[in-house]
Amino acid sequence: MKIQEKIRENRSRDYSMQAFRRGRAWVELDRRALRQNVDALRRMLPDSCRLMPAVKADAYGHGAVLVADELQKAGVNAFCVACVQEGVQLRRKGIQGEILILGYTHPKQFALLCSYHLTQTIVDYAYAQQLNAFGRSVHVHIGIDTGMHRLGVRSEHLEQVLEIFGMEHLVVDGMFTHLCTSDMMTVRGRSYTNAQADAFYHLLDQLLERGCPCPKIHMQASYGVLDYPQLAGDYARVGIALYGVLSTEEDTAKWQKELKPVLSLKARIAAVKTLYQGESAGYGIQFTAASDMRIAALAIGYADGLPRALSSGVGSVLIHGHRAPVIGRICMDQTIVDVSDIEDVQAGEEAVLIGRSGDLEISVCDIAKQAGTITNEILSRMGARLERVFV
Ligand SMILES: *Cc1c(COP(=O)(O)O)cnc(C)c1O
Repeated sequence: MKIQEKIRENRSRDYSMQAFRRGRAWVELDRRALRQNVDALRRMLPDSCRLMPAVKADAYGHGAVLVADELQKAGVNAFCVACVQEGVQLRRKGIQGEILILGYTHPKQFALLCSYHLTQTIVDYAYAQQLNAFGRSVHVHIGIDTGMHRLGVRSEHLEQVLEIFGMEHLVVDGMFTHLCTSDMMTVRGRSYTNAQADAFYHLLDQLLERGCPCPKIHMQASYGVLDYPQLAGDYARVGIALYGVLSTEEDTAKWQKELKPVLSLKARIAAVKTLYQGESAGYGIQFTAASDMRIAALAIGYADGLPRALSSGVGSVLIHGHRAPVIGRICMDQTIVDVSDIEDVQAGEEAVLIGRSGDLEISVCDIAKQAGTITNEILSRMGARLERVFV
């Protein structure tokens, strides 16, 4: 059979459903942990406050469609994403309920808001005018800037907010602000958060006084829920906490009883070989064997989200419940590790990059620390070509 015919024939079959999803490098999602985190976060909030999980950036690397679908089964019916493409993807995969776009949507994409029934954030007054001028009815939440000075109408600009409420084509379903120091337990951090909340409530009071219909309100992201439960509104936009970790190791440890990590990262061992004394390995021959050793090449690299900063012994992986240090430079698609101290390592076996193996665990906090960043960045940069599976 000619190759073109063969490809055409195969295209008609749905291989994606049957494909083995743990062939090369993949993310495993712990369904029970996700459910547990949903329950824990709901317990921290009053019944009147609903979860609006942040499933932006492919649900922080976990897989937006898989996660949103699972959350939907757990009764979640509101989500937030960063951009219109993410909202469209969820709708095309059958996710229902409210989907709020937290960021900017270009005027040329306004029609998508209508056809996919997405809710747009008003990022400032001029943007509201632009969206209203589109001339078709669009659901919006007004972003209010109470001190982060990123997006939103300034909270002191009452008249602008009132005008937006009055715009003919905008259906204002909600109004929200974003806290920028809710993870800072310092005096400065706490007073800034309180000032942001006061500014938001003050605006709300003024709107009510002026006879404005009360929209749904929300302020809290993950740290807001954990550290400022009294600021609960109609929604809580939980991201990182839902995935069972917090931004830093200290915070994650503090909440480890309530929140369980959802994601593990694994990869296949592609080849195992001996590196003889004096030989070097990898790009730039950064590693040289002091004595004969066994090394393994893993089918995962920095393009899959493994930070290159973990090269040359900074990071390690787990194989058979033992630690195998990274040697040399992490490549785009492969990583070499030292398996000299681990018995009987075979090609085709699994290596754990994030998660448990035997009694050992590498957490996303460990990786974030080694790479000099926060867990949010490590998770959200998990590569697009990783397979994602619930276990
Ligand atoms: C990303 C984001 C969230 C979720 O933040 P977490 O800290 O991960 O819970 C909430 N609100 C806005 C505006 C965001 O951009």
